Amino acid sequence: MSFLTIEDVHHTYFSKANATTALSDINLSVEEGEFVSFLGPSGCGKTTLLSIIAGLIRPTNGTVLLENKPVSTVKNQIGYMLQQDYLFPWKTIEENVLLGLKLSKLLTEESKMAALNLLAQMGLAGVEKQLPKQLSGGMRQRVALVRTLATEPKLLMLDEPFSALDYQTKLKLEDLVSKTLKEFKKTAILVTHDIGEAIAMSDRVFLFSPRPGKLHRVFHVPEELRRLSPFEARGHETYSELFQTIWKELDSLETIKP
Ligand code: ADP
Ligand code: MG
Repeated sequence: MSFLTIEDVHHTYFSKANATTALSDINLSVEEGEFVSFLGPSGCGKTTLLSIIAGLIRPTNGTVLLENKPVSTVKNQIGYMLQQDYLFPWKTIEENVLLGLKLSKLLTEESKMAALNLLAQMGLAGVEKQLPKQLSGGMRQRVALVRTLATEPKLLMLDEPFSALDYQTKLKLEDLVSKTLKEFKKTAILVTHDIGEAIAMSDRVFLFSPRPGKLHRVFHVPEELRRLSPFEARGHETYSELFQTIWKELDSLETIKP
């Protein structure tokens, strides 16, 4: 049995006027310690699928199991990091970082020290008493990551966490996030529409097609790229080959208009 198993997931949003099928016939699994990406054009159901995995919405059909248990029963073992950092503007960085621990009643002297150490490890020592508005976008995303990791979730989900950042900050943060998750041996799912980011960061790339959202193809990232940091991987010749392959596949999806 895999760490995370998604079986026959189908999801339709119903409103008064219409029904939108966001996902159809999704079957996939993720192994413990694996880093995978969900790649695809906007509207192909990536965020919907993450919300279903997080147990935030119930799929119209199908099941999601984390270590053999339905996700609706293990919600607090899943951490979520989003494009926007959702730091509370009136709370200090330290208060923001400790918030998840506090809410889940896991705040102890020990867990507090671990969280603050991680903050320092992310290059943010000294900002504890500052407010989010005093930090840059990249720094705030690092704070958001520390907050997410502080509660030690078994599965980490990252929904386009770098897409609002400038290119250089994004590349640096990719390396930092990748290194940190490897160190903690976290299982992670990254949602992105950036082919390069998906290849550079992942062990496998799941390519989704839209209307309705379906799993189109799965790409295995070759070992020689996986052992490099995302930044180094981007400079490897295998990276360009895989980029071209996925690019063509995405392009073919976009030319099939309904
Ligand atoms: P992605 O994250 O890949 O851009 P989404 O999961 O956000 O895709 O959306 C998939 C489809 O479901 C889209 O057609 C979108 O319009 C629709 N959708 C998403 N959220 C809702 C919602 N709350 N109510 C109705 N339709 C929605
Ligand atoms: Mg989305």
